Amino acid sequence: MMTSSMLDRYAEVAGPEAVAGLHQMASRFDGQRVVHVNSTRTGGGVAEILFWMVPLMRELGLDVQWEVIEGDARFYEMTKSLHNGLQGRDIMIPPKWADAYHEANRAAAERLGPMLADADFVFIHDPQPAELRSLITDVRGHWVWRCHIDVSHPSRVAWKFLRPFVELYEASIFSMPQFSQAMTHSQFIIAPSIDPLSEKNIELPQEEIDNVRAQFELDPERPLLVQVSRFDRFKDPLGVIEAYRLVRRYAPVQLVLAGGGATDDPEGAEVLNAVQEEAADDPDLHVLFLPGDAHRTINALQRAADIVIQKSTREGFGLTVTEGMWKSKPVIGGNTGGIRLQVFDYGTGFLVNSPEGAAHRILYLLRRPNRIQKIGEAAREFVREYFLNTRHLREYLTLMLGLSHGITDRIFANGE
Ligand code: UDP
Repeated sequence: MMTSSMLDRYAEVAGPEAVAGLHQMASRFDGQRVVHVNSTRTGGGVAEILFWMVPLMRELGLDVQWEVIEGDARFYEMTKSLHNGLQGRDIMIPPKWADAYHEANRAAAERLGPMLADADFVFIHDPQPAELRSLITDVRGHWVWRCHIDVSHPSRVAWKFLRPFVELYEASIFSMPQFSQAMTHSQFIIAPSIDPLSEKNIELPQEEIDNVRAQFELDPERPLLVQVSRFDRFKDPLGVIEAYRLVRRYAPVQLVLAGGGATDDPEGAEVLNAVQEEAADDPDLHVLFLPGDAHRTINALQRAADIVIQKSTREGFGLTVTEGMWKSKPVIGGNTGGIRLQVFDYGTGFLVNSPEGAAHRILYLLRRPNRIQKIGEAAREFVREYFLNTRHLREYLTLMLGLSHGITDRIFANGE
């Protein structure tokens, strides 16, 4: 059997059977062409996943490309609004935004058309490039729409716009059953995962963690709360600040809100401003705007934390939750979307519905260092079992095998 050094290293973390299984399944696809299309190479969970998935699929013998759809400012306004709408906010789609969406998809179809039409498998990620399937009519491979966002309660306007494009795919993938939609094609559930060997998640020397602490003037003697997120309202950074202020009445904690922008997210600057305004004049509240490649810095901040926070009000999955758990940290997570797949009360952290709830759970943990340690250890093992990229890759290969054999299993929304 073919082995390789990169995949062998995963065997050390996930077990040798996991890697052997991948080789076995992938041998069926040797040399087949796979194309992934999304809307950014940096920032946000999709880029984070493709960053390891593409090279690992290549190493397994597949011929894989990663392409990015691009557009003008109106396109990103439109797709951000669509994203907000799919996550439940009421939106409107002015005709000039819809035009920008069609224009960007037409330009991408022109540029990528021959490659996509000829591929054996095409994975289109999220709403931005979803129209591509309808613009490239003569295709030979299997086309799958992969939705990474929380579409449990989409706005009518947003779903009405997107659905005709999505229904043309052979299948779609959602992160959890609650996100599936009433559609006629096959729908599959695949939870995301992290790459344990990436710069974001690899073990770090204590010295490097200490240096990052010093760089951002964090006091090693006092407890640290960390939330890493794009500056996005659904990540509720202002709610985190509110929780931190409540905790501060009783414990001398410090808070880091760290994030950068994604190239496809035009709202980031506005949210960052609101957060900075709120945080002004508090030396223990650190708002860090980081470059897109600050993976080791984020890794060190998550490791420096006593408790990791992800107080989202909507969340497709929440890779930052997985990242914190992998670093043996209890996570205080918003009781929503994919965070519920990962965080269990008293098990791997706590699910919360309000700043008060978050403050209550943070104080509970801060007063019980043993619990912090026990829950942190359980969190790491939970990730090892369910949310490492070897499992994720196996499920992609299973889906690809299924599609090549013409499976028609479906799940339906509303238990139909
Ligand atoms: N991330 C990053 N830099 C930032 C903010 C986030 O590298 O400034 C990473 C974060 O570590 C995680 C991913 O981007 O790996 C965010 O994924 P998640 O599923 O948490 O949220 P999304 O941004 O996709 O909504």
